[in-house]
Amino acid sequence: MIFGGIQFILVLMQTENEEVNIAMGSRFRNFMSGRYGNDQLNRLMVVIAVIGAVLTWFLHSNIPYIISIVFLILAYVRMFSRNIQQRSAENARYLEFKDRFLGIFRGRRGSWGQQSAYKIFICPGCGQKIRIPKGKGHIMITCPRCHTSFKKRT
Ligand SMILES: [Zn+2]
Repeated sequence: MIFGGIQFILVLMQTENEEVNIAMGSRFRNFMSGRYGNDQLNRLMVVIAVIGAVLTWFLHSNIPYIISIVFLILAYVRMFSRNIQQRSAENARYLEFKDRFLGIFRGRRGSWGQQSAYKIFICPGCGQKIRIPKGKGHIMITCPRCHTSFKKRT
């Protein structure tokens, strides 16, 4: 049963991986070793799945139910995936898109007010935001958190 794995849904909704490890015990930790685990994109997909489930209940329609199942399956597949690099890249793309999307509403001010002097990049390895001075051309950026290197134009 897809909705039977309440434990896994709880894992998907956790914010910190450490918390998950403590909560799930060593057997689950062994199972998850070498697998991608959870990230911001997965949490979004679980939220969509939950909204879909609620809408199914209210609207008596199959469409939100199908959407809900699809997103839940996607979240599972990503979580248990062994292609960590590919999953990280997807998450980084999502975070970049989300920042740009939210930037439209903020009118590109607020925390992005520093945009004149700096450009903010999102690490494809861990999703960390990295602030780089503008106008340096194509440079290699090394993430201070996970030490992933990636090339970007500033
Ligand atoms: Zn990183």
